[in-house]
Amino acid sequence: MNKDRHIACPFFIGDYMSLRSEAPAQQRAFYHSKAWQHCRAEYISKVGGLCERCKMKGIIKPGYIVHHREWIDMDNINDPSVLLNHDNLEYLCQDCHNREHHGAQRRYIVMADGSVACRET
Ligand SMILES: [Zn+2]
Ligand SMILES: [Zn+2]
Repeated sequence: MNKDRHIACPFFIGDYMSLRSEAPAQQRAFYHSKAWQHCRAEYISKVGGLCERCKMKGIIKPGYIVHHREWIDMDNINDPSVLLNHDNLEYLCQDCHNREHHGAQRRYIVMADGSVACRET
């Protein structure tokens, strides 16, 4: 697996958007950009390398993924105030990150004909 996926939110564009063919290329381009690598490294050192949600609960656990609080989609994929804004980032361990995206993973389903349907929960 690409090492980048371990340190940046793999749900970058969300499950629905990642099914769109043009999205993965833009996602890769962003993750390999110098601007993001720099922003991410700065953010991780700013928060001390620990999962922010665990830390609030008094648990000391190293972070795993830099998550975007406002999830990235095709509308904001070129917006630095969303992508590269420390206020929109959160450093999470794998458990907290999975929890964050759990609902979204179930919200969309791929139909047999390849179309995507929204499933109300
Ligand atoms: Zn955590
Ligand atoms: Zn995320």
